[in-house]
Amino acid sequence: MPSAVPTEVPRPLVDTFGRVHRDLRISVTDRCNFRCTYCMPEEGMTWLPRGEVLTFEELERVAGLLVRHHGIRSIRLTGGEPTVRAHLPVLVAKLAALPVDLSLTTNGATLRSTAAGLAEAGLGRVNVSLDSLRPERFAALTRRDQLDDVLAGIDAAIEAGLTPVKVNVVVVRGVNDDELVELARFGRELGVTVRFIEWMPLDAGDAWTNELVVTQAEIVERIGAEFPLRPVARGSEPAEQFRYLDGGGEVGVIPSVTQPFCAQCDRIRLTADGQLRSCLFSIEDHDLRTILRAGGTDGDLTDAIEACVGAKWAGHAINQVHFVKPRRSMSQIGG
Ligand code: SAM
Repeated sequence: MPSAVPTEVPRPLVDTFGRVHRDLRISVTDRCNFRCTYCMPEEGMTWLPRGEVLTFEELERVAGLLVRHHGIRSIRLTGGEPTVRAHLPVLVAKLAALPVDLSLTTNGATLRSTAAGLAEAGLGRVNVSLDSLRPERFAALTRRDQLDDVLAGIDAAIEAGLTPVKVNVVVVRGVNDDELVELARFGRELGVTVRFIEWMPLDAGDAWTNELVVTQAEIVERIGAEFPLRPVARGSEPAEQFRYLDGGGEVGVIPSVTQPFCAQCDRIRLTADGQLRSCLFSIEDHDLRTILRAGGTDGDLTDAIEACVGAKWAGHAINQVHFVKPRRSMSQIGG
């Protein structure tokens, strides 16, 4: 039955807690060229069959509806590793035609050769994940010996104007928490903002424990002991920002475990197989792909999108007894 929802009238995505959703994460693939130990097993991931992954035309349709009709203002492409999706610049060009802030989260391994093309296609900026500056540790952590490629990729992104480049570091106790100061120094010297992320229970294995989370308080204390810091007011970004008192720029922390920003969350996520999610930790998907492939109208899509946002909960429940780990891991949802 055709939907009664008219799509010509703007309908901001407001949930039952009054949060207005402006930010869309699109996972363009669940595949990845790295196997970060805190994210994926070395072998044995089951990839989506290609036919289940949304096409560029399907992504363009959903993104266009969300931007024009539902007030989405920023789109971040992610994965898996988004740069392993063939012809990514073609999708970037389609999305860049929309009035949005368009960005990409990547492990940076291919940026040396892809940054210029992505920038030309209309990509605005990139976040690059980099969890260690020590070659052997980097290779052990990612199970790929490609630190040099990532460092060259960061330079290439800056050169291509995909700025401000941000560097994301997932901190895991006993793995890379002794590098906090080194990584902060790296950001200061390169003039990029490094953001330290508390490890979340979204690994494909079951290695996550509370004890392995290095908290924001600890991160700020350790960096601040070397480079004194002061907090900067938090906006709608998940990162808490801190400014170096000596004028060396800023550093961020994403304290998703100890100080979640759920009350300000303005995000929705589309998985590579077309499932809309209102939270990383949702245990429910809202299936847009079936609607797209069954010839659904924009009104049908709007119904599903609004149902998803309408069901958004107040916040995730990590650390609470009723916490249920999502069926899919970070790389499968789209981090
Ligand atoms: N492959 C791209 C990359 O490396 O940035 C994009 C996808 S990746 C899943 C997105 C981000 O999620 C990366 O910064 C990664 O380090 C982070 N991540 C993965 N698993 C995580 C977890 N369990 N907790 C916190 N962050 C995680």
